[in-house]
Amino acid sequence: MSSRKKLIAGNWKMNKTSAEATALVTDVVTAVGKLTDVDIVVCPPFTALESAGKALADSNIRLGAQNMHPEATGAYTGEISAGMLRALFATYVILGHSERRALFAETDAFINQKVHAALKNQLKPILCVGESLAEREGGSTLKVVQTQLEAGLEGVGKDQVSSVVIAYEPVWAIGTGKVATTDQAQEVHAFIRGLLTKNFGEAIAQKVRILYGGSMKPANAPDLLAQKDIDGGLIGGASLEARSFVELVNAAAAAK
Ligand code: PEP
Repeated sequence: MSSRKKLIAGNWKMNKTSAEATALVTDVVTAVGKLTDVDIVVCPPFTALESAGKALADSNIRLGAQNMHPEATGAYTGEISAGMLRALFATYVILGHSERRALFAETDAFINQKVHAALKNQLKPILCVGESLAEREGGSTLKVVQTQLEAGLEGVGKDQVSSVVIAYEPVWAIGTGKVATTDQAQEVHAFIRGLLTKNFGEAIAQKVRILYGGSMKPANAPDLLAQKDIDGGLIGGASLEARSFVELVNAAAAAK
């Protein structure tokens, strides 16, 4: 059994209005808002952060954003800073999601700037890494993950890295219904833990949570969450309904 508390984070992507966010978060709070043995995070779109934040106030559920810009203020039309997220009481931020990398051309260097800006503002980054189908089939999964992880964490100190959450998300499993097998997922999670050990030392590497993301559902979650190095899930589709999200939280509570 690991000493790391499991974490279930919902990535709502571009879904839910402000009013819909209130309704969904209210249902999640009613079901698991007092739970203390799993960390629960919801990441609504920027426009719903405020309403979601109000609905989860006084519960144990935390608020996260899906992205941010590394600069604090300035001429960056359409962007949002870490300070703005903190002002809405967000405490987590997803960085380097594969959709940001693929659709918005985000590089490892840019993602690394965001990691530093998040940490400077007491936001916990959920740093996403993962290979495409072509990369897996070409045998370069571990190399791709290593590059994304080490570049994303470049310059992050030993005193900071336990505030970072890593999410291993094989791109071919995101939103496709194709989940990685438990062996495939555990192999990469153990590899990531090994890299963290090499770069930051054993004691710190044992504290960092590594989430699995990619079509995690109530039916496949128990097996994934039972793996030694899988410390929770970053959930897309199944986080959009209270029932499936709550089932995943309960699966994490049962797996601890
Ligand atoms: C995600 O986009 O982070 C994700 C894991 O999505 P899904 O659960 O829908 O595959």
